Amino acid sequence: MIVSVEGSVIVEKYKERAVKEFDLFVIGAGSGGVRASRLAAGLGKSVAVAEQEYLGGTCVNVGCVPKKLFYYGAHLRDDFSLADSFGWSLNTDGFSWKTLRNNKDKEIERLNNVYKGLLENSGVSLIQGTARFVDNHTLEVDGTRYRAKNILIASGSRSYLPDIPGNEHVITSKDVFYLDELPRKVIVVGGGYIAVEFAGIFNGLGVETELDYRGELFLRGFDDEVRNVVADEMVKKGITIRFNSHITRIDKLTNCQKKVTYSDGSMRVVDEVLYATGRIPYTDHLLLENTQVELTNKGAVRIFDNFQTSVPSIYAIGDVIDRMQLTPVALSEASSLIANLFGHKNQTMDYEGIPTAVFSNPNIGTVGLTEEQAREKFNNVDVYRSRFTPMKHSLSGGDEKTFMKMIVDKDSDKVLGLHMVGDDAGEIIQGMAVAIKAGATKSVFDSTIGIHPTAAEEFVTMRTPG
Ligand code: NDP
Repeated sequence: MIVSVEGSVIVEKYKERAVKEFDLFVIGAGSGGVRASRLAAGLGKSVAVAEQEYLGGTCVNVGCVPKKLFYYGAHLRDDFSLADSFGWSLNTDGFSWKTLRNNKDKEIERLNNVYKGLLENSGVSLIQGTARFVDNHTLEVDGTRYRAKNILIASGSRSYLPDIPGNEHVITSKDVFYLDELPRKVIVVGGGYIAVEFAGIFNGLGVETELDYRGELFLRGFDDEVRNVVADEMVKKGITIRFNSHITRIDKLTNCQKKVTYSDGSMRVVDEVLYATGRIPYTDHLLLENTQVELTNKGAVRIFDNFQTSVPSIYAIGDVIDRMQLTPVALSEASSLIANLFGHKNQTMDYEGIPTAVFSNPNIGTVGLTEEQAREKFNNVDVYRSRFTPMKHSLSGGDEKTFMKMIVDKDSDKVLGLHMVGDDAGEIIQGMAVAIKAGATKSVFDSTIGIHPTAAEEFVTMRTPG
């Protein structure tokens, strides 16, 4: 039986064998669920994975992948603006949102099929539908029951919307990927990864963009200087940033515009309001009340050693456990879980030194401790900084700055953290993260020869702290 599921096609092979008992039944074919399913099947286990929406989960369909494609589209505007100083005369007919969106849709459909192929070739049974718990070992999908020795909850997360009047008129990061029209004017609410990334994307695509954040400075948890540099650079690019901004209600006007009202009584009218105010574990549909699985006070599945929940036969990984909502973390958690469960290896998931990037414009790349965290933990901290105009702006006279920062424990000479704001920061920090993971000292960085002329060479040529 072939069933169409929002752009992907899922083969529902095993429905007729409803009583089959699997070694592992995975709820959710997102990044973590697919990795766990394939690894377990590769170890000879019988595995089923149930998916109610699309293969590849949030990351592939309405997250990392389409976001990066949109980011490339938006970033081209900066490149076009440099072109004439390098001798190119460009005549563009403007930007077509529908072309970008439709091409993105085609690519995501291709990826859905890649995921489908990967699962099928591994011998994993794909089941379309919402899996709900009947008891600690039994699940029901569309009226068919499945039993499993082990169940993995990898159901991910969903956007959180604050409870304010008119919140039904806003869009979330999921909706943004399918908009029929690109808004002319948008307000992005929030101060985390998604808000900062989408403010940059909208701005790059020519949308009049405002970012409203409730606190003093966005990107809480990132290095303070990084947060300030990013805010400065975003403002230079034409984004209006309003900190300490509190929205009290949203009204839909007759012409489909939205009126946003703030706590100080001010109002603004825009075409779309994008709320990016966090993602919460997605468990409400699972009927967990039919099990003894415990949740944390934030609604995440509570886990113990090796991702085991309060029920020995049930495990959980990824966004639903709300540790670090990052795809590579979910992948690593899946590998660790399956190695321990079926590979009989002792593989501990290491949450230290996880690098991350924010695809803001310019990008942020970061690994290890911020200066603030380092000063709390260590007595003698040296901070090395570099702020410069990237070479590609040397002919155009552009005023974009790249910022790089290294945090060193003076006593041990160990590099504690690296932070960068600038082009390809994620690419550069990924490589540097290996050095940090290996415990590299400042002397090791100093004795490494740079690659000239690159931005990355700054990390091995920083000589004077301060
Ligand atoms: P984040 O948790 O990163 O940020 C949420 C933001 O919303 C914070 O600034 C928070 O403010 C604000 N907020 C929370 N509640 C409210 C409220 N009631 N009213 C107003 N503002 C509020 O969530 P995102 O949605 O940006 O992203 C979710 C997760 O997805 C990220 O944490 C990240 O792990 C992952 N992600 C990773 C990406 C990457 O790797 N590049 C890209 C996109 C997402 P405050 O700081 O004051 O609490």
